[in-house]
Amino acid sequence: MSQASGPSAAAAPGAHLLPSYLQADKLGPWGIYLQQVDRVIPYLGNLARWAETLKRPKRILIVDVPIHMDDGTVAHFEGYRVQHNVSRGPGKGGVRFHQDVTLSEVMALSAWMSVKNAAVNVPYGGAKGGIRVDPKKLSLGELERITRRYTSEIGIIIGPNKDIPAPDVNTNEQIMAWMMDTYSMNTGSTATGVVTGKPVDLGGSLGRREATGRGVFTVGAEAAKHIGLDIAGSRVAIQGFGNVGGVAGKLFAEAGARVVAVQDHGGTIYREAGLDVPALLKHVQETGSVSGFAQAEVITNDQFWDVDCDILIPAALEQQITAANAGRIKARMIIEGANGPTTPEADDILQERNVLVLPDVIANAGGVTVSYFEWVQDFSSFFWDEDEINARLVKIMKGAFAGIWQVAQDNKVSLRTAAFIVACTRILRTRELRGLYP
Ligand code: GLU
Repeated sequence: MSQASGPSAAAAPGAHLLPSYLQADKLGPWGIYLQQVDRVIPYLGNLARWAETLKRPKRILIVDVPIHMDDGTVAHFEGYRVQHNVSRGPGKGGVRFHQDVTLSEVMALSAWMSVKNAAVNVPYGGAKGGIRVDPKKLSLGELERITRRYTSEIGIIIGPNKDIPAPDVNTNEQIMAWMMDTYSMNTGSTATGVVTGKPVDLGGSLGRREATGRGVFTVGAEAAKHIGLDIAGSRVAIQGFGNVGGVAGKLFAEAGARVVAVQDHGGTIYREAGLDVPALLKHVQETGSVSGFAQAEVITNDQFWDVDCDILIPAALEQQITAANAGRIKARMIIEGANGPTTPEADDILQERNVLVLPDVIANAGGVTVSYFEWVQDFSSFFWDEDEINARLVKIMKGAFAGIWQVAQDNKVSLRTAAFIVACTRILRTRELRGLYP
């Protein structure tokens, strides 16, 4: 009988009953994700009757995270873990520590993980977590305590077969080690596969740290061929110079590109002849930001959007490319290292101006792809060498990109909509095959 309901019935039943937190205002990250889903529904055929699934996270956990501060006081922080979808496998996605983390943001990030994991066809659903905290204001001891208490609080829904966290903005290998240890102490046995992005000594994978940036470069180089852009000699501007932007910058420079501008939380630097990327990476490692780097001019953060370049890589936070600056961007190609950096209005402006956008859900999927390799290695307790990991990563990224490129051509849609068509079809096909229980 359910077979009888066609796509037109998709959004209607129960849609008016959406809980208030799901009716996110159109300007927030969850609202942006909902707009992206609406754009793909017309391409889902009969699976569209399951589309409501995509608009409702499977499970949302909000936790209070109290910790002892070094000064003897007790501080409370708000933490989240959202499992957007688990149809294709366990939840999977990072944990972010940032002072601006909100539920709407974590919900959107968890949904983008579902789409990303399906776009590169790793056997996961999508999840994301976060704590609303500025980790730069915590001592190392406070950082460890907040990580451990948060892990204990979300311990009821995570696990190697349930939901596997990983690093994201402001979280790293050490934090993953504490998460793994806390979960393992609570469950009574060492469970390396509960998180990915761990130190290599603790069951982490070679190549994981560089994987997101390597994926950004790989997809960018593939797309460049399609638009006749030579990477050697091209000019690149990068926003965010951490684990994603820094590694991508290094790989583009090694391929002969000129990294002409870099922006991070410390400011924006520019050098027409190209920045010395290895020296800049060293400077950032030593000082925490690009500001103060000697061999560069300082420009304003707003001028960054006017920089003459061929490739722009937003590799920081959401909603950076908006209707306000999309018309000024000179690049021919944007590679989304960050999650959700471009608003739907900006997408339309860029498409109109013939700027190719390589969407986050494929462009930055290298990280979770090697997270998948890490998880597989942990389960089999057999570890691969770095060449094998990088070769498998490149194969998956190139294959996924080629498929999405073809879907975009066939349907005359943007690469974002094409990636959503591929991914949402995979998610909803599984949804339909599994059916409803009970
Ligand atoms: N935080 C990364 C992302 O946004 C990696 C997630 C993972 O490895 O699970 O894709």
